[in-house]
Amino acid sequence: MVDEEKVQQAIRLLLEGIGEDPKREGLIDTPRRVARMYSEVLAGMDEDAGQHLGRTFTATSGDMVLERDITFFSTCEHHLMPFFGKAHIAYLPDGKVTGLSKLARTVEVFARRLQMQERLTGQIADAVMDELSCKGVMVMVEAEHTCMTMRGVKKPGSSTVTVAMRGAFEKDEKLQNQFYQMLRH
Ligand code: ZN
Repeated sequence: MVDEEKVQQAIRLLLEGIGEDPKREGLIDTPRRVARMYSEVLAGMDEDAGQHLGRTFTATSGDMVLERDITFFSTCEHHLMPFFGKAHIAYLPDGKVTGLSKLARTVEVFARRLQMQERLTGQIADAVMDELSCKGVMVMVEAEHTCMTMRGVKKPGSSTVTVAMRGAFEKDEKLQNQFYQMLRH
């Protein structure tokens, strides 16, 4: 849980620290607004992916299921700046499938925390693997990090791509290629 009172104090100090006057008109409500914002964008800390993925349907086929272009917003734990982009999740069902919206909710649970993109990618893969007890999972995340693009280290629009594979995907190049091909269509 975000301690909003503490965050408000910190934001007042931050404003002083950067040479601003926290009492001027435009900033007077800023600590309260920022505290509320953190409560919302970090709400995933108190959530469990299982509550979404626990709802499953019986599947007769073991063919690959791909949900692509799941938009997400997260917060980089190194700079407290947003990073955002798209997640693509493929899995091989073993008797159980989940509703497509539940995959998007799962991405949100892990995105709404202080994160690193690599960890976010792995956590999504582990949650789908464990909760659906499937044969394999592959997750790709493409994101723009404002801590990079705003500071000119990288060009705006450039993206970082991470991949996580579990189960059958780990050693099967054919399955991996099928994933990449399905993403392109
Ligand atoms: Zn960063």
